[in-house]
Amino acid sequence: MSKITIVGGGLVGSLLAIFLAKRGHTVSVYERRGDPRKTDVYAGRSINLVVSHRGWTALRAAGVEVAVKQITVPVYASMMHDRDGKLNRVPYSIDNRAIYSVSRGELNRRLLSEAEQLPNVKLHFDHKCVDVDLETATCRFLPNGGEVIGVKADVVFGSDGAFSAVRAKMMLGRFTYSQEYIEHDYKEVAFPANADGTPKMDPQCLHIWPRRYYMMMGLANQDGGFTGTLFMPNTHTENAPGFDTVKTEEQARKFFAEHFADALPIVPDIVEQYMRNPQSSLAIIRCNPWTVNGKVALIGDAAHAIVPFYGEGMNAGYEDCKVLNDLLNEHGDDNWGHVLNAYGKARKPNGDAIADLSLRNFVEMRDLVADPKFLLRRKIEGHLQAKHPDQWLPLYSQVKFSDIQYKDAWREGLRHDRIMEEVLAIPGIEEKWESAEVEKRVMELVKAG
Ligand SMILES: Cc1cc2nc3c(=O)[nH]c(=O)nc-3n(C[C@H](O)[C@H](O)[C@H](O)COP(=O)(O)OP(=O)(O)OC[C@H]3O[C@@H](n4cnc5c(N)ncnc54)[C@H](O)[C@@H]3O)c2cc1C
Repeated sequence: MSKITIVGGGLVGSLLAIFLAKRGHTVSVYERRGDPRKTDVYAGRSINLVVSHRGWTALRAAGVEVAVKQITVPVYASMMHDRDGKLNRVPYSIDNRAIYSVSRGELNRRLLSEAEQLPNVKLHFDHKCVDVDLETATCRFLPNGGEVIGVKADVVFGSDGAFSAVRAKMMLGRFTYSQEYIEHDYKEVAFPANADGTPKMDPQCLHIWPRRYYMMMGLANQDGGFTGTLFMPNTHTENAPGFDTVKTEEQARKFFAEHFADALPIVPDIVEQYMRNPQSSLAIIRCNPWTVNGKVALIGDAAHAIVPFYGEGMNAGYEDCKVLNDLLNEHGDDNWGHVLNAYGKARKPNGDAIADLSLRNFVEMRDLVADPKFLLRRKIEGHLQAKHPDQWLPLYSQVKFSDIQYKDAWREGLRHDRIMEEVLAIPGIEEKWESAEVEKRVMELVKAG
């Protein structure tokens, strides 16, 4: 069995530690920050996440599905809040399937505790990776207030997130890399529960306030409150202010009154939170290769940081872990060169595809969810899926409720776009979308490929 170093004890590093330790490897996790179970390392940056099908598949394979399910809230639909406060509920599937809201901090704490119970896992907090020797799989860590130490292993995994130190070292060699910031940054906003602990909104919905240039989302917590995220351009344009021009309390008050008036009674201190909470940026990172020398590999955001609009970044990272585990089952635990090579080859195209899909969903959530044509398309797709489940699985369901590889879902989604473009152009489609005529036309287009 091998000696493994995992750099980064976040969402993916903690699950990877469980997978590898359960196989019998000796696993040491080195995390730059303090222990989140003892200090509030997530203050103002917790953000709720959704766990979906792929995440659950991996959590189940690692034996921690039940432990994680206990801290989640099922979410069956998105609830759109328009400017007039009108609500529109759009279910995620025709068969009542859910995605699951969880606090990032809670999830990380739960997985670290699960990992720590395994006798062959050792967690080292306040240890920042400052260097990796890619030939010898030796990492150098700077403990908080201490001297740099060297740790040699058989294999090193960089699960140290979007700004990975392991990846930075790989970049000094033959390495392709791109980093793209989108114009939007975000801030966390906490929505309180009622005084009696009941939720102020339907907890089984992802609440979305689409405002074209801005967007706010809210996901339920188990305590009746919600954790919300405000997305807004970093820099203002002639059409809209940005974080750079909404800086003072007065500017923030005016901004929320103008764009999110219906949310003010739900979050009375939204302005104070806006002023207090940190602003974070969003980047898409692509790189290649993900592994080097059969000894060092990137996983999770370190390999594929994406924008959060499909809610798949962590789920994709969990799927990375599951695929790696499957490859170890297939090729054995003493064949790392082969396994890591196969892992990188299998996952890289999927990392690229979910990056593209997530960017596309950004436009969808920000603009299209309030567009009647888009809502009609959703209805038509649901109708088709109900009548021809073997022929039509909407893109959203492929991504969120299936194991279909992201790269295949993406290709299929583009085909759906072409078909739906033709269908939505049928004169009078608004009235006859459920008719036999429309159904026949769609099936012809599906068969034509
Ligand atoms: C607003 C927002 C909403 C999101 N919503 C969702 C969602 O709904 N569903 C979903 O699946 N994904 C979502 N994501 C994406 C998700 O947060 C990431 O994909 C996920 O956190 C990746 O996990 P990771 O462990 O790879 O990286 P991280 O969670 O970033 O963990 C990396 C860890 O490495 C540590 N580290 C960094 N550098 C070093 C170093 N030099 N030495 C040692 N340790 C180091 C960090 O402290 C951190 O603990 C969202 C992201 C954002 C920003």
